[in-house]
Amino acid sequence: MRVLLDCDGILSDFHAMYLPVVEKFTGISLTESDVTQFDVLDQIGKKHLQDQVNKHIEWNELCSKIPVLPGAKEALDKLRRFHDVVIVTAPMNTQTWCYERTQWLKREFDIPKSKIVFTHSKYYVGGDVFIDDSLDNCQKWANNQIGRVFLWDRPWNRKRKNMGRIQVIDSWEWVLKELCE
Ligand SMILES: [Mg+2]
Repeated sequence: MRVLLDCDGILSDFHAMYLPVVEKFTGISLTESDVTQFDVLDQIGKKHLQDQVNKHIEWNELCSKIPVLPGAKEALDKLRRFHDVVIVTAPMNTQTWCYERTQWLKREFDIPKSKIVFTHSKYYVGGDVFIDDSLDNCQKWANNQIGRVFLWDRPWNRKRKNMGRIQVIDSWEWVLKELCE
């Protein structure tokens, strides 16, 4: 099977990098559980600071410094033994994000660039399973593709509606049991 896997919030701890930057520019300190919307700056009414935040991330090469989420390496090792895993990830709007992310995926997971798709329209990418922490991405994919859709439970995707055939998941154990046994 082809498994389409998101990166931020699934493999990489995006908020561990992003929330300190948000605090630096807004003075607002948030923990992951405070994040109730996918777009953090939008949630706190600071969307006008997005360009500054992005420049800071670019200049400090913060994409390449994002920590790996616990358990992701072991899980991906196993998943890749059973399936064709393709990383489908929406880049932030910085000049170096895609380059840094490609290097990061190679360094941390030994994923070659041939297995990475950068897009903001994930629903164009076909596969048997789609795993993401964005409700919007899951809904669009479910509406445009045939295949199983797993929404990874996170604080920013809990205002759920129109779930259709989207299944909510919250652990690698469950993913591996479902797809590798
Ligand atoms: Mg994500």
